[in-house]
Amino acid sequence: MDLARIGFGSDLHRLEKGTGLRLGGVTIPCDLKTLAWSDGDVLLHAIVDAILGALGEGDIGELFPDTAKENAGRDSVEFLSEAMERAYRAGYRVGNLDATVHLERPKLSPFKDVIRRRLRELLATDAIAVKAKTAEGLGPIGEGKAIAAEAVILLVRWKREEG
Ligand code: MG
Repeated sequence: MDLARIGFGSDLHRLEKGTGLRLGGVTIPCDLKTLAWSDGDVLLHAIVDAILGALGEGDIGELFPDTAKENAGRDSVEFLSEAMERAYRAGYRVGNLDATVHLERPKLSPFKDVIRRRLRELLATDAIAVKAKTAEGLGPIGEGKAIAAEAVILLVRWKREEG
C-alpha cells in the first residue's frame, strides 16, 4: 500500500433558471440551478472523482449512472459518502483538498466559509481549500450558462501495512 495517493477530478453542469445551487453540500440561494440528473453539485462531483481517481476506481458516472432511477435528484453527499467509504476500506483518509469553482455569478464570497465548514465535516479533515473564479465574461461559464469545478485530493494511509 502506498503512503499517499493523489487524485484529480473535474465537473461541469449547465445552468438554468431556478431557486438555488447545490455546491459542496450547501444550498446557495440564487435564481439559478444546475441542469442535472442528481442534485447537480459540481464541487462534490469533482471531489468524488478525485477520490476515485486516487484509488484508481473509475469515475462517478460508472458508480452512479445517470440512467439509474435511484440517482434522480439524489443528494451528492451520498455519492461522497460512498467514495469516502471506499477510501477508508482501502486504508486511506483524506490528507487535504484543494478545489476551485468556476462560475460567473452569484458571487461565492459570502458562502465560501460555510462550504469549507461542510467539506471539513464530510472529508474529515481541516485541510480544505475552496477557491472561486469567474471567467471574465468569456465562454459558457463567463456567459453564465455553466458552472464547473476542479479538485485535487491527497489520500494518506491511515492503516498499517499488514503482514
Ligand atoms: Mg456532475
